[in-house]
Amino acid sequence: MLDTINTTFEIRLNGLVQGVGFRPFVFQLANEWGLKGKVSNGAAGVVIRINADLTTASRFREALLHEAPALAQIIQHTLQEIEPLHFESFDIVESETAERFSLVLPPDFALCNNCRQELHDPANRRYRYPFITCTHCGPRYSIITALPYDRPYTSMAAFKQCASCWHEYNDPADRRFYAQTNSCDDCGPQLGWYKTDGTRSVQLSFLNDSRWILPRVNWALKAGKILAVKGIGGYLLLCDATNEQAVETLRRRKHRPQKPFAVLYPMLEMLQAEVALNEVEINALQGVAAPIVPAERQDACRVAQNVAPQLSSLGIMLPYTPLLDLIANDFGKPLVATSGNISGNPIVYEDEKALTDLTAVADHILTNNRPIAVPQDDSVLRFTPKHQQPIVIRRSRGLPLYVPKGYQNSDFCVAMGASMKSTFAINTTDYLYVSQYLGDLESYETQQNFEQVSAHFLRLQNPDFLPVFGEIKALFCDAHEGYFSTQLAVEAGHRWQIPIQKIQHHQAHLAAVLAENDLLHSTQPLLGVVWDGTGYGSDGQIWGGEFYPFNFSEQPLSKQLRELPHRLHFDYFDALLGDKMPREPRLSALSFCKGVVGSDAILQPKFSPVEWGVYQNVLSNNLLKTSSVGRIFDAVASVLGLMDKVTYEGEAAFLLETLAARYFARHGYAFSEYYLENTEIKANIPTRKLAEELLIDIQKGCSSDWIAAKFHFSLVKIVETTAQRLGVRQLAFSGGVFQNAVLIDLLIEHLSPHFQLYFHRQLSPNDENIAYGQMVLGSLLMKD
Ligand SMILES: [Zn+2]
Ligand SMILES: [Zn+2]
Repeated sequence: MLDTINTTFEIRLNGLVQGVGFRPFVFQLANEWGLKGKVSNGAAGVVIRINADLTTASRFREALLHEAPALAQIIQHTLQEIEPLHFESFDIVESETAERFSLVLPPDFALCNNCRQELHDPANRRYRYPFITCTHCGPRYSIITALPYDRPYTSMAAFKQCASCWHEYNDPADRRFYAQTNSCDDCGPQLGWYKTDGTRSVQLSFLNDSRWILPRVNWALKAGKILAVKGIGGYLLLCDATNEQAVETLRRRKHRPQKPFAVLYPMLEMLQAEVALNEVEINALQGVAAPIVPAERQDACRVAQNVAPQLSSLGIMLPYTPLLDLIANDFGKPLVATSGNISGNPIVYEDEKALTDLTAVADHILTNNRPIAVPQDDSVLRFTPKHQQPIVIRRSRGLPLYVPKGYQNSDFCVAMGASMKSTFAINTTDYLYVSQYLGDLESYETQQNFEQVSAHFLRLQNPDFLPVFGEIKALFCDAHEGYFSTQLAVEAGHRWQIPIQKIQHHQAHLAAVLAENDLLHSTQPLLGVVWDGTGYGSDGQIWGGEFYPFNFSEQPLSKQLRELPHRLHFDYFDALLGDKMPREPRLSALSFCKGVVGSDAILQPKFSPVEWGVYQNVLSNNLLKTSSVGRIFDAVASVLGLMDKVTYEGEAAFLLETLAARYFARHGYAFSEYYLENTEIKANIPTRKLAEELLIDIQKGCSSDWIAAKFHFSLVKIVETTAQRLGVRQLAFSGGVFQNAVLIDLLIEHLSPHFQLYFHRQLSPNDENIAYGQMVLGSLLMKD
């Protein structure tokens, strides 16, 4: 029957279809159907050509869509008849090359269960092989050096498959059929084990043989040593999490006095005995992204207190690579697993750098000879305690780079993001990519890293890198002149004559949450609530407590966003001493409580007499103002005596949240008293009145956890009363403040019965979403 068919159809499937076992899947399905033709990786996805009639071709496409591998994500698909071709069989053929790729890059996938079983099976030929993978798991984005995703364009290029691996690779019945990362002990990457002496000199102890190296890794951990281990996105620092001394040494060497470390557990069973986990959290930990998930410690938890000082929660994860699985299971106890860097710098991912820079931190360094093409930290995903709403705290390893557009723009554009939590975004004809978290651009090394990663990304779009710049239609950046990302945009704009559009920080946040929730076409009233720590405002002040009301309108939100939207905010208070203010919550307290009767008694003890005199003087002559809710959190934390100087960003707010969480866990989320209850709010939020009422509670001797709870609940009521006054039923939230799980739970608990609530989903609420928001708003503005 097939001999009579002389028509040929082409099916193109675009989206996340490379690096997820898609071609083997097509091959198997085509053979089941008795079809003849070929499948290849194309410039924009997978291209399938078959000898079939229209009905069969259509049905085959449906089957492809419905039965696609779990890791795949098909975004576009087409079917068309092409010039007749004659096929004798169905084959997987070499990739088509193209000048310009428009591909959804696959993220790195955590070790799958089949590979994990083989890893621990003495009868398997890959027993204890530290780089075991298959079509369903293993590194992808971190090893891609060019597109399309084929072995010669990855860091696996140097490793020629041995006969056994080659056989699997070509066997349609094998799980490793066309697995680009396929390898074994005979042909794959090899380990290197180094001993350091703390002075930038290292000595190679063992090369290549994991049977020799892994026991030594285990002995070193048992002896309380600190190890730098090359992972997927960079080097991790490991040490015994139950050994307080080892943790203390790591803190000292890494210059990280307080900030919690993540903890790697060998297996779920042990994890469940030591921390409280619900089903959603377990699914995330065991999922393909395998992020760090914060969870509450249980009494049985053996992890030393100094791993997460003053906190009742721990950031935990499960082994996502075979090497980490072997190390953690050999050790049999929880391990600290933190990014390999000196505090403030990006994660180290190059071997040469590791063997110099990490010698000051690690006693031993475990390398391997598979290069990492692009660095990534571990992702952090938390869930709110009551409603299990996911909050992306850090979007990196394992999470998709592709984000749905939510707006119309097919031009090649680049958005440069913010500063503290930098990312960049690239808009191509078909797709939008938002980069992984790239760290704080105040650090020179992070700046270099930002340039390298963005150059790598642009090169992936077009191997002929330089013309890409000339083709960029627009560059979007923050309105803050001092940001490195803004300066980079301005420089590139001058050099390549690319138009630049500066986007106000909070409007970028607003645009991001609206686009991510596909709300740009809405004409319904909506209140955008954008609260964070710091952003440069259009009036030259420091914003951070903003409300954007949209009333009933003929015009969709996209159109209203383009005009300077109406804005309400927390009443300004003094922004003191630049960067010193976020580092010293006592300064926020001083400003927040300015002129409030009785505040001196609480505040003065926080300062030396000299400081007090100086700061009073600064306060009375200060011109720069802020509406930052982040700073209000700091102020409240300080007046409650939680913290006057932070050691890491967001520390004071997190302690305040922890205090409130403790209250709500004990008493439930029904709360009735709130600040500003008897104040009629006509426009902006009276910050001063809030401070007065809060201080009265402190003077009355109310407990700190109750005040923390009341403060959180008051923020919810402020949103509610503002929305009611404006007659709005849709609420959208963005900004770093909405990383606060207690606040999210309270919003859901108290407002979801009466309002439609929109939060970020794939992106983080913090400044990581600024690049995306810049792209959204910039794209809308380009239409003028
Ligand atoms: Zn696997
Ligand atoms: Zn092999």
